[in-house]
Amino acid sequence: MRVLVLGAGFGGLELTTRLSEAFGDDADVVLIDKADGFVFGFSKLDVMFGHRPPADVHHRYADVVKPGVRFVQATITAIDPAAKRVETDAGSFEADILVVALGADLHPDATPGLVEGGSEFYTVAGAFELRDVLAAFEGGRVIVAVTSTPFKCPPAPSETALLMHDFLTKRGLREQSEIALVMPLPVPIPPSPDASRALLGAFEERGIAWHPQRLVRSLDPARNVAVFADDSELPYDLFLGVPVHRVPEVVAAAGMTVDGWIPVDPLTLETSFPGVYAVGDVCSVGTPKAGVFAEGQAGVVADAIIASAQGGDASEYDGRGICYLEFGDDKVAKVDVRFVAGEPPVGEYDGPSDALAAAKLEFGSSRIQRWFGRSWP
Ligand SMILES: Cc1cc2nc3c(=O)[nH]c(=O)nc-3n(C[C@H](O)[C@H](O)[C@H](O)COP(=O)(O)OP(=O)(O)OC[C@H]3O[C@@H](n4cnc5c(N)ncnc54)[C@H](O)[C@@H]3O)c2cc1C
Repeated sequence: MRVLVLGAGFGGLELTTRLSEAFGDDADVVLIDKADGFVFGFSKLDVMFGHRPPADVHHRYADVVKPGVRFVQATITAIDPAAKRVETDAGSFEADILVVALGADLHPDATPGLVEGGSEFYTVAGAFELRDVLAAFEGGRVIVAVTSTPFKCPPAPSETALLMHDFLTKRGLREQSEIALVMPLPVPIPPSPDASRALLGAFEERGIAWHPQRLVRSLDPARNVAVFADDSELPYDLFLGVPVHRVPEVVAAAGMTVDGWIPVDPLTLETSFPGVYAVGDVCSVGTPKAGVFAEGQAGVVADAIIASAQGGDASEYDGRGICYLEFGDDKVAKVDVRFVAGEPPVGEYDGPSDALAAAKLEFGSSRIQRWFGRSWP
């Protein structure tokens, strides 16, 4: 059975690792990505706040040596889901099973004024550039803001505001600075009232201004103001934005999307095209867009492929994931969340603590060990 996995992010890496573990050299898996390496989302925050150098968080795909898996660095230019065939700048590929794990593309240019007058911390390039911008920042009005929905890792803007507080405090710049957090959500973590309470308490303690249920629609760089949908304004000296998210162009052109994302069976992750699956940020399965969910979905697709080849039971997707929350002061909290179709999501909150900071570190290093076969950090 030939399996073609598009995208070597959280979803693609987990899926190909599971298939290699199950089939060894008998696997016939091709993994395609245009990038030369993987970077965890949370590593972007580590780099921008100067906790780690960029080279430390870049995991080269050239180091993936997995029996039965061939990595191809190429840009996918066309997907034919009916034929399970893709075109790339390194030739065409065909498969019996096709898995789309291409994530969400980010579009800073879709928010007027953001590229000219602000910064964004969601792309690798944007977060890495911010390292120098923050190092040179002398204090002032900081806005951390979301510009559209849906967006990946809903806790990340809250984490960024808390880490910014630490960053400015350590540099003796907090007194002359203000931090505002603009979020489309009514509370920071809707599935967990406890987590939301803890975060709102932390914002209040640290003097971080919380602006719920709002989106920044544009920036006016000439006047250094962020403009909301109702035309009200918030002045800034440093604007850190979460840009507009969309499926990659090649996915939209393949005619696989409904309302902007790929619909899937919520239990199997299969698309409306037989033998074609979609996992992670690119699909609209109903979980937030986060690596832990992409990983869980990849596991279900791996189980289905393994069951169809070896017999046995496939699993059903349970919508569960553990999200770690940077709380500042080197402490981390955790929300264990579950999203089940047709039911309100529930989340169990724990922390913040040093033990959970260690657990988050272990979460990252265990993935790099399994996916890349080496220890990290
Ligand atoms: C600041 C920040 C912090 C975060 N923190 C966390 C966290 O703590 N925990 C967590 O679980 N999640 C976190 N996330 C979210 C997480 O990074 C994503 O949700 C996750 O990476 C999604 O996995 P994926 O496999 O769907 O897509 P991705 O990991 O985005 O992978 C998609 C891959 O497809 C490739 N690709 C796209 N288009 C093409 C093309 N045309 N041709 C070839 N290749 C292509 C890309 O290069 C990419 O490697 C964070 C995100 C950010 C921005």
